[in-house]
Amino acid sequence: ALMITDECINCDVCEPECPNHAIYLGEVHYDIHPDKCTECVGHFEEAQCVAICPVACIPVNPGHVESRETLMQKYLRLQESD
Ligand code: SF4
Ligand code: SF4
Repeated sequence: ALMITDECINCDVCEPECPNHAIYLGEVHYDIHPDKCTECVGHFEEAQCVAICPVACIPVNPGHVESRETLMQKYLRLQESD
């Protein structure tokens, strides 16, 4: 999963781009639910939030480093629960 750092300027553009609805406005800035972020695996070739963020504040979450296969399994789980 990816995460949003405190460099976020709350510009709002990433939230509607997430295919998994993983991005939400937290108390201080936007945040990403690690359980919902597949790094866009299953939907797109590149992370849509990273592609659109004007300040490049969306790195990999060090607490949630996942392989492509794990991300694909998460994608499939999320599809089932939809
Ligand atoms: Fe959503 Fe993709 Fe960004 Fe993860 S990488 S938060 S799934 S847009
Ligand atoms: Fe924050 Fe970047 Fe999302 Fe804008 S696109 S709200 S700066 S994380």
